[in-house]
Amino acid sequence: MKRNVLIIGAGGVAHVVAHKCAQNNAVLGDIHIASRTLSKCQAIIDSVHEKGSLQQDRHLQAHALDAMDIDATKFLIRATHSQIVINVGSPFLNMSVLAACIETGAAYLDTAIHEDPAKVCETPPWYANYEWKRRDACKDARVTAVLGVGFDPGVVNAYARYALDNCFDSVDSIDIIDINAGSHGRYFATNFDPEINFREFTSTVWSWENNAWKSNAMFEHRQDWDMPVTGKVTTYLTGHDELHSMSQNLGVPNIRFWMSFGEHYINVFNVLKNLGLLSEQPVRTARGQEVVPLEVVKAVLPDPASLAPAYTGKTVIGDLIKGIKGGRTQEVLVYNVCDHRACYEEVGSQAISYTAGVPAVAAAMLIANGTWDIGEMANVEELDPAPFIALMNRMGLVTRIRDAQGDRVLDPQQEAPGKTAPARLVNY
Ligand code: NDP
Repeated sequence: MKRNVLIIGAGGVAHVVAHKCAQNNAVLGDIHIASRTLSKCQAIIDSVHEKGSLQQDRHLQAHALDAMDIDATKFLIRATHSQIVINVGSPFLNMSVLAACIETGAAYLDTAIHEDPAKVCETPPWYANYEWKRRDACKDARVTAVLGVGFDPGVVNAYARYALDNCFDSVDSIDIIDINAGSHGRYFATNFDPEINFREFTSTVWSWENNAWKSNAMFEHRQDWDMPVTGKVTTYLTGHDELHSMSQNLGVPNIRFWMSFGEHYINVFNVLKNLGLLSEQPVRTARGQEVVPLEVVKAVLPDPASLAPAYTGKTVIGDLIKGIKGGRTQEVLVYNVCDHRACYEEVGSQAISYTAGVPAVAAAMLIANGTWDIGEMANVEELDPAPFIALMNRMGLVTRIRDAQGDRVLDPQQEAPGKTAPARLVNY
């Protein structure tokens, strides 16, 4: 059993993580929030109190921390007796926070792949460039590290694993489809950290085709889908974290990621990119100041968390899986629908932050109760998806399945009663 959580970061996702940890502090214990800006941590704590999210009257405290400083992070982990660290700071922090966890024995969770600020779109598979190099170190220290446990990456990895094990004899393709059919009413904004968001789209789009990496350009491939809630919706082939583990772990020849974009977003994005304003490389101004254009764009765009009060509409995110069962081809969609307004009413956040934060806390609870406390590093598709999906169904993120039998809530216990799997699954 592990207790006490240290949340790193105080942005939109951390806000949701704090509320959900508070709602489940009988299992998780004390909660500490640490970020560069102490006032942001304190604002989250005020919101937790205002919403009455604390399940039990336990410790909830803010700390100032530069999480690039491994010694300072180790000190805070020890001082707060935190046995679980949920890293929802910037992805530039991952390797430092992971190092602090390995050295203190705390379990590690994050929701995005590590990035080097000076590099964009490195050689695939991306996990091999950073995180997987620490696999042995985690195993030697018996440290549980669950990588990319937001919604995508995260829940979509679990959906794929669930479908492979329960719905098919063999799978030919997994299309991950991410639709935000919401509206925030601003001229232009990104739903999470603009710097990270744009870095996803400014370089090569990697996808997994016929068991090999294929490179494309952003907005080169367009595909319409018939999705629940939205009906026909247009998406574009996009590079994304989860392809870089699922391609290596699942033995599926085709895995692609599709994201919806409105024409207005594409126009603004193209103008910014073509002007060079999305570059991560520094430029020197006439006054001799060195600035990173992407950081300037981030500074002038709305803070994603500020979008929440006015956000309406829903997100629909899931996996469309095609393969063979009993000699016949079949298609299964495993998905979630999340309502921006309902998230705001519950925890004061928009649905993108909510869908990323809830899974991280569900994973922390599975580590706390021992179910996922495997004492080594894993991506989500390597873990038993059933308890994860069942727990999220009770925490506000309900999974649905659409197949030949219709469209219904996916309750893993009802669909595959009595089926138990080891916490860490063998890869395909
Ligand atoms: P934000 O930009 O809103 O928040 C990031 C936080 O990290 C800020 O509070 C920032 O502090 C803090 N931070 C940055 N550098 C440091 C540092 N050196 N030390 C301590 N704290 C630091 O991001 P989001 O909340 O939107 O996203 C958080 C993470 O979740 C990101 O990795 C993002 O990619 C990921 N994500 C994952 C999703 C999924 O489904 N898997 C979906 C959405 C996001 P400060 O405020 O002082 O700058």
